[in-house]
Order: sequence, then structure tokens, then C-alpha cells
Amino acid sequence: MAGPLKTSEDTEIPQNVAWRPDDVFKQYRTPSTGRLLDDVVFHPEILDVIEKKIEEMDDELRALSMDIHDHPEIRFEEYYAHDTLTVFMRQHGFDVTEHYLLDTAWKATYAHGQDGRTIGINCEMDALAGIGHACGHNLIAMSGVAVACAVKAAMETFQLSGKICVLGTPAEEGGSGKVILLDRGAYEGMDACVMCHPAPGPQFSLSLSSSLAIQRAEVEYFGHTAHAALAPWEARNALDAAVLAYNNVSALRQQLKPTYRVHGVFEGRNWSHNVIPDYAKYIVGIRTPVLAELRPLVKRVVSCLEASALATGCRADIHTLDGTYDLRQNKVLGEETAHVFTSRYGPVNFAWGIGNASTDFGNVTYALPALHPSFAIPTVPGGSNHTVEFAKAAATMEAHRACLNVSKALAATSVRVLIDDGFFAKASIINVCLAFCF
Ligand SMILES: [Zn+2]
Ligand SMILES: [Zn+2]
Repeated sequence: MAGPLKTSEDTEIPQNVAWRPDDVFKQYRTPSTGRLLDDVVFHPEILDVIEKKIEEMDDELRALSMDIHDHPEIRFEEYYAHDTLTVFMRQHGFDVTEHYLLDTAWKATYAHGQDGRTIGINCEMDALAGIGHACGHNLIAMSGVAVACAVKAAMETFQLSGKICVLGTPAEEGGSGKVILLDRGAYEGMDACVMCHPAPGPQFSLSLSSSLAIQRAEVEYFGHTAHAALAPWEARNALDAAVLAYNNVSALRQQLKPTYRVHGVFEGRNWSHNVIPDYAKYIVGIRTPVLAELRPLVKRVVSCLEASALATGCRADIHTLDGTYDLRQNKVLGEETAHVFTSRYGPVNFAWGIGNASTDFGNVTYALPALHPSFAIPTVPGGSNHTVEFAKAAATMEAHRACLNVSKALAATSVRVLIDDGFFAKASIINVCLAFCF
């Protein structure tokens, strides 16, 4: 792979190369004119207020992001982040509900004028065991706060009616916190919902890629122990069953579409080299680009799990665990965000982002008009999401600035949801039509 690409003032930002930490920082220029397209943004005076508010808050947003980054908490244990973010929102004039429907979830609302629509904004807060904020959710938390405060500033400055509802959602990593909150009604009353996520990608870029639907499953194999040398013929080897299942899946993978993902790990108990194991567990993640493709693939994987039980004479107990849907990026919200973003902050693509990962926000995008763009931060080779290197990347000033830029574009889109009836009608009709398709 080529080394870090140096850009200069005169070169275009390469769209097929990830932003590296030592790339030269340059001012973004729009591809068509080389200047910022202030004059074509919907109500540029609103965007000016949004930008001014976020820039005024720069230092406190940076401190908030680093505070959460330096106190990583895993799923459903985000007590420090919960307390820090709810104090912050209260200080900025929001009504706060602590421990909202889940112990570490929270809600912050603000209303201005009479009636109007409600824009939802999502904050994530959780980290990964042992590697800290290796998915950059400290930036997501900061972005949610920044978007909310900027929209509030625009509502106050221009006397715009409507409501802001910020949700702090726990356990994106392996807990599907948003799915629980969606089931418990936390998103009811929102007319649309936005959030963003950091990822590798070209310098300054925003990605509107989707993400994969996922179903997790586990199989427990039950066999019979025996002395591994004295009388192995008396055993039923549960570890062999798990290994064969793993290999069955590996063989299946060659006949799967390149966009599908199947991956997993073993767990055991009381394993010893001189005892044939009577128990083994194989936990597997099954992913497809859209939810409708997932069920047929799950069926094929389950056949792999059953076959190894038959081959080894073990019993297989197969359980499906939690799963989440693909991201159904709302086209109207996406186009508006892309338009604002390319007009002022950077290029937009559909290839990078978290396209090959999954998120519990996918379920939210099936329920209401919603948008979840990814934004590029500088990463080292081999340092994508869920690595120690990505945790370091999520603490850099470049990542902070990139996050604030996407937050400005999301705030502008959010205000348009509140005040432009035709725009909102188009955004909602798309979700209604898609609901009939599946
Ligand atoms: Zn992650
Ligand atoms: Zn994440």
C-alpha cells in the first residue's frame, strides 16, 4: 500500500485514500469553483448562526469530548458520561430527564414558540472493553450536544417554533441500547432524528454509506468427557463440533456475496488438553447489506452449526441473540446534509464510513426519517474503528474539528426539518414508501 499522501494547496483531495495523521492540512475548496458556496445554502444566515454558536462553544465542547474519552465506560455502565452530559445540557438551558427508560440513558428537551415539529438528536457514550473509546463515541456525544445547542441558538435568534429532543443512548457496542429505547417509546414524538459517527476516510470527507444488518447467534455443543489418551473413544468432543462448525462457515463463505459477513469466536469451560471437552460455544455474527437478505443467510449458517453436531455425535442448542437493521439513510435529509457539507466543509462519498459495520441506529432509521452520516478522522494504517490506534485518533484536534463540521451541517438540516414544510413532507414520504417495500 502506498504511504501517506501529501497534499498541497494546488491538488484535489484524493477520494480513494484515507486521511493520515501526517497529511498536510489544507483548506477545503469545492470541486466546481474552488470557493465556498455560501450563496446556495438554504437560509445561509441560519447556517451562520449555527457556525458561530458551535465555534463559540469550541473549548467547552473539546473539554467535554476529552472528559468522556478519558473516562471510558462499557455498555450499560455509562454513569460518568450520563452525569457529565446531563449536567452540560442543563447548563445550556435544556430540560433534562435522567435515567430515562434505562439506567444510563437520558433525555434533554427544549421547546420554542407554539407547536412545530420535533427534531431528535442522538448521543452515544459507550466505549469498548480494554481499548477505551476505540469507536470514537466521545465525538458522537459531543456532536449531539453541539447540534442541539446550535439548533437552539437558531430557534432563539430567528424565533423559530419547534422542539429539540436529545437522547443519550447507552450500549451501542453489543447491547443494542437504541433498540431497547425504541421499543420503550423513546423515539415517539420525534419527526426526524440525526446523529453521526467517526470512521477512516478521505481528508475532511463525509460519507452517506449505509451499514449492514446483523443477526447474532450462538450454538452450545454438549458432548461427553473422557481421558484424551486413555480412552478417547468414549468421548463426544464438543470442541470438535465447534471447530467443524467454524470450518463449515469458512467453506460457506466462499459461496457468499462479497458484501456478506459471517464471523465468530469460541468459548469453553473447564478445558484442559488432556480431557476431551464436553462443552463448547460458538458465537457468530451474520451480516447482510439489507434486512431482507438476512433471514436466508441465517438459515444457511444454522445448517452449518447443525451439521457439525451430527458429525460429532454432540447435541446442539442454537439460540438467536440480538440483531440490528441496516442503516436506511433518509435520502432527503442526506441530500440536504451533503449539500451543506460540500458547500463549506469537504467532499461527500458513499463508499467509506461504517458501511461494513452495523449500528443499532439502523432500527431507528426504519421507524422514522433519520440520518447517520460518517465523518473521516485521520487514522494510521491498520488503525480503523475498534483499535487502540482509533481511540488515539478520536482524541486528536483534527478529529474534533471534523466532528464540529459535520455537526454544523446536521444542525442546518435539523433546522430545515423544523421550518420547511415541503422539505419535511418529502423526507417523511420516503420512509412511508419504504415501509411498504418490506
Ligand atoms: Zn463500534
Ligand atoms: Zn461506534
